[in-house]
Amino acid sequence: MPIFKDIASLRQWRQSLQGTLAFVPTMGNLHEGHMALVRLAVARAEQVLVSIYVNPLQFGPQEDFTRYPRSLDKDLQQLHAAGCSTVFTPDDALMYPRGRKDLSIIMPPHSLAKPLCGAHRAGHFAGVCTVVNKLLQIVQPEILILGEKDYQQLRIVQQMVADMNMTVQVLPGPLQREADGLAYSSRNSLLSPTERQKAPLLAATLVDLAQRSQSETRIAELAQAGRASLEQAGFVVDYLELRDSQSLQLLDHGLPGARWFAAAYLGQTRLIDNVMIPL
Ligand code: AMP
Repeated sequence: MPIFKDIASLRQWRQSLQGTLAFVPTMGNLHEGHMALVRLAVARAEQVLVSIYVNPLQFGPQEDFTRYPRSLDKDLQQLHAAGCSTVFTPDDALMYPRGRKDLSIIMPPHSLAKPLCGAHRAGHFAGVCTVVNKLLQIVQPEILILGEKDYQQLRIVQQMVADMNMTVQVLPGPLQREADGLAYSSRNSLLSPTERQKAPLLAATLVDLAQRSQSETRIAELAQAGRASLEQAGFVVDYLELRDSQSLQLLDHGLPGARWFAAAYLGQTRLIDNVMIPL
């Protein structure tokens, strides 16, 4: 399994490829959520490229960029075992050779990027779109695989691909959960044992809200009750909202296919999750 750290040799490999290439961008510290995307890629394409890059552009100054967990050797072993064809591990000098201050940036549309995480992480989605765009230019895949765990990111990248007339097909992968319901996340390893015990309440609250809001109009009351139970357990809630799955507009009534979205801190660790109202 070749591991590329530079663009020229990756491009050379790309040019010699036969068959469809699926691309799974990650920030490493791989878990079952990532590996499910890799398995989806292996099932859909002859060749699979996974990138591992913790993109500084999508972290705010007060966020956990330096604390973000990194485990490259273990990641590479897992990818090899899963049948990944190649790995791209760029560094900051390769991705941002002129630094990060005076860059060409992709600005995502406000309607998708301003609410939810965008309201709490200024510039985050511009950083995501910019790095995904750069990675797509470098890798030139036919298929881009993104997880529904980061649902807002998925919708924004789908929109960027459409708005920029990119030809890549965006394939969403379902959100993967641990046995107790907690969504797999690289950040879960930052939780203390006590925080880890509390963490599944975030998913449980969303599942409960999704069940109770199927044809409900008192959405604000439901959201308030969900927020209160999370806060009582020690979460600091950034948002807990019901939104349309396509437009991400706020909804004041439950609809099949709409999604409950939440972001909340346990200690220093920010967790996000989303659950769809059953179709
Ligand atoms: P990250 O390494 O956090 O940037 O995530 C890389 C990709 O894996 C993104 O497309 C995420 O949405 C996806 N991902 C992360 N966690 C999960 C999960 N629990 N289930 C499905 N996809 C996930």
